[in-house]
Amino acid sequence: MKILIAEYAGFCFGVKRAIETAYQEIEKNKKGKIYTLGEIIHNPLVIDDLFKKGVKVIEEKDLEKLSKGDKLIIRTHGVSKKLYDFLTEREVEIIDVTCPFVKKVQNIVYEYYNKGYSIIIVGDKNHPEVIGVNGWCDNTAYVLNSIEEAKKMPQLKKACAVAQTTLIEKHWEKILEVINTKVEDLIFFNTICDATQKRQSAAEELAKKVEVMLVIGGKHSSNTQKLKKICERNCKNTFHIEAPKELTLDMIKEHEIIGVTAGASTPDYVIEDVLKRIKILKGEDKNE
Ligand code: SF4
Repeated sequence: MKILIAEYAGFCFGVKRAIETAYQEIEKNKKGKIYTLGEIIHNPLVIDDLFKKGVKVIEEKDLEKLSKGDKLIIRTHGVSKKLYDFLTEREVEIIDVTCPFVKKVQNIVYEYYNKGYSIIIVGDKNHPEVIGVNGWCDNTAYVLNSIEEAKKMPQLKKACAVAQTTLIEKHWEKILEVINTKVEDLIFFNTICDATQKRQSAAEELAKKVEVMLVIGGKHSSNTQKLKKICERNCKNTFHIEAPKELTLDMIKEHEIIGVTAGASTPDYVIEDVLKRIKILKGEDKNE
C-alpha cells in the first residue's frame, strides 16, 4: 500500500500562526478570560480543544459583555477599524492574529480612502474578511463578486481596487477588466494569497494519480468542501472526513494507492491520526 499526501495540505501560514498564538496565550494566561471573536477556524476538534482549555467563542453582538482585562483573539479574517476602537475604549486586551496578508489589504484600503479614492473590493460581501476590510473605509466600498455586478457599478473618477485574499486569480482578472472601463483613474492591488490556489492545485494533481482520495477537514469548512469537489472530479472514490474515526475500512479496503489532502483548518495532528488509522485498518500497524 502507498499513502501519498498532497504537497500543500492543511494549515496555511496565517492559520498556523493564529492557532499557535491562541495556545501560547492559554499558557501565559493567569487571570482574565480569553475569547475568540467567532470561531477561530472551522474545525470542531480545535474549537472543542480550545473550549476545554478555557477559550470561549463570542459573537460581535455580545462584545458589550467584555470588560477590562478580558482577552479577545481577533482571527485571521481581521475586523473593522471601528471594532478595534470599541475594544480599546473598553480596555479589552486585543490579541490580533489577523493574517499579515489581510492586514496589508486593510492598510491599502485605509490609505487610499484617506487620499480620497473610492474603494472597490472584489469578493464576497458576506465573507468576514471582506466585511472587515470594508470597515477600513467606513463601509463605503463597492463590493463586487461578478462581472454583472461590476457592469452595474457607476462611473468613478478615481478608485482603488483590491481583492479578497482567497479569490481565484482568473475571477479577479475578469472583473478587473470591467472595473477598468468604469474608472477614469484606477489603481489596483492584486492582494490574492496563493495558499488556497496551491492547496487546490496540489489536491487536483494528486487525485489524478490515486485510487482513493481522502479529504480531511471540517464539514462546514468551505475551502474543504471545495477541495472535495476538485478531488471528486479527478478521483471517483473521494471521501470527506472530519475526524480520523470517520474513516472506515470499506472506504479503503479495495485500494492500494491512497491520497490524502486537508483543508486550511485541519491541524497536522489530525492528518497524522488519519495516516495512522489507514495503516491500522489495512493491518500494517498492529499497535492499536
Ligand atoms: S489563506 Fe492566505 S490570507 Fe488567508 S489566512 Fe491563510 S495565509 Fe492568510
